[in-house]
Amino acid sequence: MTSLPAPQLLIDGRLRAATGDTSFPVINPATEEIIGYAPEAAGADADEAIAAARQAFDESDWPRRPGFRAHCLRQLKAALDRDFETLREITIAEAGVPRMWTDGPQLRMPVDGVDYVTGLLDHYEWETDLGTAAPMGMPTSRTAAREAAGVVAAITPWNFPTQINLAKVVPALAAGCTVVLKPAPDTPWAGAELGRLIAAETDIPSGVVNVLTSAGAAIGQQLTADPRVDMISFTGSTATGRLVMTAAAATLKKVFLELGGKSAAIVLDDYEVTAAASLTAFTTCIHAGQGCALTTRLVVPRAGYDEAVAACAKTMASVQVGDPLDQATVCGPVISAGQRERIESYLRSAIDDGGRFACGGGRVPGRETGFWVEPSVIAGLDNSARAAREEIFGPVLVVLAHDGDDSAIEIANDSPYGLSGAVFGTDPQRARAVARRLRTGSVSINGGVWYGPDVPFGGYKQSGIGREMGVAGFEEYLEIKSMAVPAGREPA
Ligand code: NDP
Repeated sequence: MTSLPAPQLLIDGRLRAATGDTSFPVINPATEEIIGYAPEAAGADADEAIAAARQAFDESDWPRRPGFRAHCLRQLKAALDRDFETLREITIAEAGVPRMWTDGPQLRMPVDGVDYVTGLLDHYEWETDLGTAAPMGMPTSRTAAREAAGVVAAITPWNFPTQINLAKVVPALAAGCTVVLKPAPDTPWAGAELGRLIAAETDIPSGVVNVLTSAGAAIGQQLTADPRVDMISFTGSTATGRLVMTAAAATLKKVFLELGGKSAAIVLDDYEVTAAASLTAFTTCIHAGQGCALTTRLVVPRAGYDEAVAACAKTMASVQVGDPLDQATVCGPVISAGQRERIESYLRSAIDDGGRFACGGGRVPGRETGFWVEPSVIAGLDNSARAAREEIFGPVLVVLAHDGDDSAIEIANDSPYGLSGAVFGTDPQRARAVARRLRTGSVSINGGVWYGPDVPFGGYKQSGIGREMGVAGFEEYLEIKSMAVPAGREPA
């Protein structure tokens, strides 16, 4: 990593070290090596970043120049394309993402998705004519204008670093907002690299984007409490989401939250259970199960339960676990020793609750350094067990039995979360009917892929508030202003 640009803060257009020149190590989760150091932003740095974003919003014409913003986003897209291999190297090294996934949802797809957001600016209706009416007998022409929400604090997690950084920063900029980005302590490099590209390779004015790397919760807390910040855009755990919302309440900030999940894949009794089970087991291993929308509960007809468990175990045993640099690796390390311990506590709880491992259940044999967990299938639990209810965020699949469509839907919806889900059924109408009854923000039917820059993504219930991506994801960063003038006196 020494040949890569070292992470720096971006504050008011300047790439620099933290006040006091403090830094923290960035660890490769596959090897436990220190791959570099990121600046540890001080409270004074955050204060300066917020002030710069506030000033750029209030005093520059950035919020009122959509054409210029589109030009800047095109420059950013070109810079991301040029820098793609560097971003790939960073993503693999600091997040342990298998190279395979950088060609898809971790990197290639989100980088390409910048074009979608930029394209919205070509035809977006910033002001809608609501026609005339005569409220209280006064003939009036009305319009609804959409304007930037203001200064956005974007707080992001470690599991999909560049994808989530872009999913927040790009639509916020397109909308005319200014941004303070705070990436997760485990993955500061991706955020810093985005800041470097913005500063070095785009005309985005000083102060419009600021990046603060930090290893402690203080900077995030400062962003959520500061009255100069208008909106928090947060992705992470539901527990932290609650803290963010509570802190933001004091100054009534607009809050967008993309939180945890414990999504269910339902197999209906008219579908080939082994095919659905194998696909679900495979997807649980993507990036070692560290995806909020992965379906980590498989809900199968009781009669096909044993067959499903066996199919999951067979698939997981064949998944390539190992070096994320190897193009064939599906399942890399988990992000940290702490995360591995958290997963292991769920594995222990599954046994305590009467479950059994059909495969896995421990650390990966032969891998003494790095943070490794075996792909694991848990059988013999019902939906009340901790491992079936809580987000594990590891390559762990729980297989549950259902007794018909109503029972399957009840199990799937019996969760505080509502992020995603899947239905497998031969009869498309029946499968769609089941999908409609799931209280979740997205559903895959028979393996369909809903992820894309134009597809809104987000959660029901405790999985979040609002939507990322698509037109809805862009409009999260807008306010609506209604205006009325006496009819016949409209401005030309
Ligand atoms: P967190 O939710 O704790 O952290 C996410 C981001 O929030 C980080 O940038 C973190 O940085 C910041 N943060 C933490 N506390 C606060 C606060 N009080 N105010 C403002 N920002 C804050 O995730 P973890 O990394 O601790 O992961 C824990 C669990 O969360 C995982 O095991 C997984 O279950 C779940 N998770 C879910 C994700 C999802 O996409 N839904 C993504 C990542 C994790 P800092 O700590 O420096 O403040």
